[in-house]
Amino acid sequence: MGEAGQLALLGSRVLLVGLGGLGSPALLYLTAAGVGSIGIMDMDRVELSNLQRQVLYGEGDLGSDKTSRARARAMQIRSDAEVQVHQGRISEANARQIIAGYDFVIEATDNRESKFVVNDACVALNIAFSHAGVSELQGQTMTVLPGRGPCVRCVFGDVPDLEAGREGEERGILGPVAGVVGAIQALEAIKYLVGFGELLVGRLLTWDAGRMEFRRVPLPAEPSCGVCGKLLDGAEYEKRGFRNQ
Ligand SMILES: [Zn+2]
Repeated sequence: MGEAGQLALLGSRVLLVGLGGLGSPALLYLTAAGVGSIGIMDMDRVELSNLQRQVLYGEGDLGSDKTSRARARAMQIRSDAEVQVHQGRISEANARQIIAGYDFVIEATDNRESKFVVNDACVALNIAFSHAGVSELQGQTMTVLPGRGPCVRCVFGDVPDLEAGREGEERGILGPVAGVVGAIQALEAIKYLVGFGELLVGRLLTWDAGRMEFRRVPLPAEPSCGVCGKLLDGAEYEKRGFRNQ
């Protein structure tokens, strides 16, 4: 990345919504990479059943707020990291106020409602974000640049079949599967902030960990999308080939 890239990271603000299986590795890598200011949001406390995949925490953290333990862990890695705690659950009522001012958002939640709330607020505020979901041996992730590619609602409609959420929790999530996908989310944030590589915009990365098969599925943006459609320039989309891939 060089000195310029490192300075860009130091001057960046990233919000991490969800401090579970995806958010744990994402926070470790964002902190270690040198992101200057990191917001963390979660409402839960650390439970024993979390520890197999939520690698931020250990037995000594059981019963504590995830936000406070995650902040302490980040400060262990980099004592000069600015870590802003948002205790609670993201909702339509608070999302825009919390998200405004961040340069990039990592949506690492475990439920459909929160995924939509983050999507809608980021699109409204024109803030780039990474979406992801994991379940058993499956993972998926995409990056949204509002107006420059499809949003989560373009892809999944109003009632998405996201393989995350409490359903995923019940079926179980293998720790390393969440670890890989969460690390990819951190990488997308770093690429966006520093400005290198090719982002997962207009492409859903799916991973079948059982067969160890990664696929990049091209996705059209939907000009009729109720959330981001008005931002979309149809001609620009055709030119970029989003609709015809
Ligand atoms: Zn959309």
